[in-house]
Amino acid sequence: MSQQETKNSILIVEDEESIQKGLCDVFIYHGYEVKATSDGASGLKEALTGKYDLILLDIMLPEMNGLTVCNEIRKKDRSQPIILLTAKGDEEDIIEGLKQGADDYISKPFSVRELLARVESVLRRSPKLLNNAEKINWGSLMIDPQNLVVHCNDEKIELTRREIDILRYLIKNPQRPVTRQELLKEVWGYGNTQMETRTVDIHMAKLRRKIESDPQQPKLILTIRGEGYRIEKPNA
Ligand code: CA
Repeated sequence: MSQQETKNSILIVEDEESIQKGLCDVFIYHGYEVKATSDGASGLKEALTGKYDLILLDIMLPEMNGLTVCNEIRKKDRSQPIILLTAKGDEEDIIEGLKQGADDYISKPFSVRELLARVESVLRRSPKLLNNAEKINWGSLMIDPQNLVVHCNDEKIELTRREIDILRYLIKNPQRPVTRQELLKEVWGYGNTQMETRTVDIHMAKLRRKIESDPQQPKLILTIRGEGYRIEKPNA
């Protein structure tokens, strides 16, 4: 194993002892700096120190559940990478978690390989964004990736990193519909994962609620039936 120059740090919030220990072992073995807590309240306190590159957050936790923790973190820090750990089949929780601003989720039981791939994918996007923080003008929109905002006429809209990345990718490809699989690959960084494209739809719905004047009748990001999404240029 090669030693990384700066270790990435991960906060693990998981109350099940055996899973917590397993996760710690995996990440320590792969060169991460790891801190673990066993309940939501102490997890939140630790998360808000801002020391961590990524937070792995279980949903079912004593003291405060993971969805509330996620929501509280997002109120203070919109760019903190968060991956939720969910029990298999907790559809409602997954949807709610993504709505609360989690970057991704992984269902238990998961393979170590899948876990590492997702964590690396979320982490890869942090420096990518910093290296590519140029403002983008798109019709009447001005996208400011560094500050995670979009200026639309006189309005200032706060977006998550993922939402900014989605917008940027669509703007890079305005002439054609972009498929959900393509967004998973290019924005989420998933290569061959047969991941459900619902993740894309949930993020898209959230983005539309923020930037469309009528999210039910989108004028900016259009759904092209059977193909994907295409961006239009709003009049300046
Ligand atoms: Ca739990």
